[in-house]
Amino acid sequence: DAPLAPAATRTTCPYCGVGCGVLATPDGLGGAAIAGDADHPANRGRLCSKGSALGETLGLGSRVLHPLKRNAAGSYDRIGWGEALDAVANGLRSIAASHGPEAIAFYLSGQLLTEDYYVANKLAKGFIGSPHVDTNSRLCMSSTVAAQRRVFGSDTVPGAYEDFDGADLIVLAGSNTAWCHPVLFRRMQDNRQGRSARLVVLDPRVTATAEDADMVLALRPGSDAALFAGLLVHLAGRGLVDRSYVARHVTGFEETLANACEIAPDIAAVSVATDLPTEQIAAFYELWASTPHVVTAWSQGVNQSAQGTDKVSAILNCHLATGRIGRPGCGPFSLTGQPNAMGGREVGGLANMLAAHMGYAPEEVDRVRRFWQAPNIARREGLKAVQMLDAVAEHRIRAMWVMATNPAASLPDADKARAALAGLDLFIVSENVLSNDTLSAKPHYILPAAAWGEKDGTVTNSERRISRQRAFLPLPGEVKPDWWIVCEVAKRLGFGAAFTYTGAHHIYAEHAALSAFENDGRRDFDIGAHAGLDKAAYDRLRPVQWPVPVQQREGTARLFADGGFFSPERRAQMRPLATPKLASETDSTFPLLLNTGRVRDHWHTMTRTGLSPRLSAHIAEPSVSVNPADIARFGLIEGGFARLASAHGSAVLKVAAGEGVAQGSLFAPIHWSGETASDARIGALAQPLCDPFSGQPEMKATPV
Ligand code: SF4
Repeated sequence: DAPLAPAATRTTCPYCGVGCGVLATPDGLGGAAIAGDADHPANRGRLCSKGSALGETLGLGSRVLHPLKRNAAGSYDRIGWGEALDAVANGLRSIAASHGPEAIAFYLSGQLLTEDYYVANKLAKGFIGSPHVDTNSRLCMSSTVAAQRRVFGSDTVPGAYEDFDGADLIVLAGSNTAWCHPVLFRRMQDNRQGRSARLVVLDPRVTATAEDADMVLALRPGSDAALFAGLLVHLAGRGLVDRSYVARHVTGFEETLANACEIAPDIAAVSVATDLPTEQIAAFYELWASTPHVVTAWSQGVNQSAQGTDKVSAILNCHLATGRIGRPGCGPFSLTGQPNAMGGREVGGLANMLAAHMGYAPEEVDRVRRFWQAPNIARREGLKAVQMLDAVAEHRIRAMWVMATNPAASLPDADKARAALAGLDLFIVSENVLSNDTLSAKPHYILPAAAWGEKDGTVTNSERRISRQRAFLPLPGEVKPDWWIVCEVAKRLGFGAAFTYTGAHHIYAEHAALSAFENDGRRDFDIGAHAGLDKAAYDRLRPVQWPVPVQQREGTARLFADGGFFSPERRAQMRPLATPKLASETDSTFPLLLNTGRVRDHWHTMTRTGLSPRLSAHIAEPSVSVNPADIARFGLIEGGFARLASAHGSAVLKVAAGEGVAQGSLFAPIHWSGETASDARIGALAQPLCDPFSGQPEMKATPV
């Protein structure tokens, strides 16, 4: 590593899945100077606007600093940690005794560190005995998880960021990468300038990313799978299928191709399905077909769909059919939304996973049970986020512990979610901030959790790279790390022997040991080389791409170039797709289709980025972008207000003319909510219709 300025700490940005390395130098007054870490492979010293402004977001003015208990009047009293932890443990014990362990649920977050996630998942699934652990990552990339598990036999991103440097064609599907993964987009632009790589953007909305593209395909919402099924047909018709790779490493190719021929028999049919001109489709197909080094990357425009698993599968199929996977400069690539969405997947923090990328097959349950010496191991999949809130509304779940996320704003049908949370018998929230939509549902206990800069652990970015987040500020007030809070509750529940961790390093070492436990190379997630890490080695840990099995010093940049998939027969499994369609269509009552997403300079519900005036200067207020023809059609006034209503809820937003928004569509950012912008809560409008495999809701196409 290059020498650091005195007192600079190497850490990782807490925002998007690019996972940029950050150098933080505390100023001694509670703030810090921020710079990019030139030695971090993800960003090589660059930061985007959000990362650069991190130093402006470190104040304590909005923080919760002490445990709080709701009183009879509905306000909060400060209590000590002992009282809070005893009350939480007694409440959980009482509900498990009266209603069974499955009346308890944990709702976690891609903002948590891997170590926090690990202990929460272990307590719930191994010791309390509830499988109901899910996360806001369900809303982010669970369709990719489901597709990769279905096709590869494991939740494995095959490539590395270096592939964006070496690709000759980069296809971005459903991703405003320029705003949502800015530093990675800069790498793509470097490639375009240095090597003349081509860029194709597939998105119903013309975004900042599209402005830089060679080709923009503004396809009809919900038609991505038809476009890629047509590409598979085109590749087969041109004789460009890598028959050798398919014969050695793939099953289901012929059935999948026959299914693709039904969905998209020719370019004319694809044109009808996508609303794209035939010439544009033909040009895209020919460019993809004739460019060996192609990376197809996607994000929430593909994932947040009631057919997200099939959409991702359709992309994977094209790369598998041509053997363009796991080789430098080519492959399918999921752009993860959150800083640690992948770390949560690694520990099993999804309702359909158990731990260390193991699921609920009997031998996997038994393996995890023996490793944890777990007295009450969960034996079946739990409820996914939207189902979980339904169970809360129906009082099948009576206690919920929410950590580091704001489901009353971010879940679809968010008014219903907030009302359900308010009706819990025991509602616990571990939080940084004193005010948000979920806290407005009045949890019984608010537990003050450490924030970025104070907490210590690991995160995993979109290219499977594990990086350290390191503390450079003291814990303020009575704030504690999330893992500490969980372990103290576990001890009070009588499980202390399994939760005697001396620090984050101790948890990470156990997590690493579990990944390697009875792993004969048939499980993808293996960081066995880190199983024995002590605190000093953990503190020195350099960013590394998993797998890192025992005896392997370096990480693994790519997988699957020579097969080696993680299905029982070590082959990828192509499957036929359902007929592409939206979960619900517009009609005379709800004639417009609402798309949602991020803006460049804000993150989630703005609890951190909202503290920086510089970041708020880019886009200062919530709005809805409307095509000028629809502004006229609905008698709206640009700069005036419009009430949007769906079958689920409503919002009031300022009207902006959106040239990039197609007629019949709208776009609204997700960030504004809470006391100052409660009418702009987009989650209230979004429909809770989910993908049958992943459980991910269709957040980007709600009729309004
Ligand atoms: Fe942070 Fe993402 Fe920006 Fe990098 S690109 S600085 S990880 S927000």
